Amino acid sequence: MTWDVLRARLRSALPLYPVGPSVANAPEGPAGCVVCRGPARPGLVRCYQCGRHELTGHGLLADAVVPVCYAIKGTAFAGALWRYKSWTAPSAAARRWLAALLLSFLHDHGSCVWRHAGMPPPGRLAVVPTGCGRPGPHPLLELASPYLRLPVTRLAVRPGSQGRDLDVDRFRVGKSAAGAGVLLIDDTWVSGASAQSAAAALKLAGARHVAVVVLGRHINPADPLAAQLTARLAPARYCASACAVHDPEPPAGATPDSTARLSLSSDR
Ligand SMILES: [Zn+2]
Ligand SMILES: [Zn+2]
Repeated sequence: MTWDVLRARLRSALPLYPVGPSVANAPEGPAGCVVCRGPARPGLVRCYQCGRHELTGHGLLADAVVPVCYAIKGTAFAGALWRYKSWTAPSAAARRWLAALLLSFLHDHGSCVWRHAGMPPPGRLAVVPTGCGRPGPHPLLELASPYLRLPVTRLAVRPGSQGRDLDVDRFRVGKSAAGAGVLLIDDTWVSGASAQSAAAALKLAGARHVAVVVLGRHINPADPLAAQLTARLAPARYCASACAVHDPEPPAGATPDSTARLSLSSDR
């Protein structure tokens, strides 16, 4: 697969998946919680969950959380984020499209993410384990890791840890995280408790930096707190040149990031 194929795949899927915007695309600029871009109460910089994480996980949280898109409940995009990992009938189309979205984003905006996290390009890749502890490789890792020249640090759910809150002991991490900058990927951010628990586990295992890139920041339009945000997002479409940490032009000196160690030139 080449970049041209990848971009064509992304473009062709856009009409099928009216993604909603990349987070920075709302005309007024980045919205909501400064951590996860979800809805926050007026006057507060963080949403309720990120505020709690700050209290219980201070010093161990991800250095940056960058959602690629909003996943508005009931939209085709939100559906794709489930269908790609269905146990019984995973959708091949959703897999292809999400892979194109993630890899194009890392190529175009990886350097924005690393800068936002205050870290050099990552040396390791990790994925937030699924809550149910499904066996086998995580489907998102299966999609992305063949194209990312990053060794994988594995996280495993510690038996008995299934809470809904941030839990710095929820995951076990191998020794490979020590001293590393880690790109931690996930499909959906709802409360962020899993991703931040994974970030904390990586930090406790010695990771120097953790940057979370998540495909969809879940939004429930029935949530009264989300009304203002969803109203702003409704007319927007995904725009590949914008991301959550700058709007809409890339910062001076930003270049597409070959240091994300994407290898797409080989045929796959
Ligand atoms: Zn938040
Ligand atoms: Zn960017």
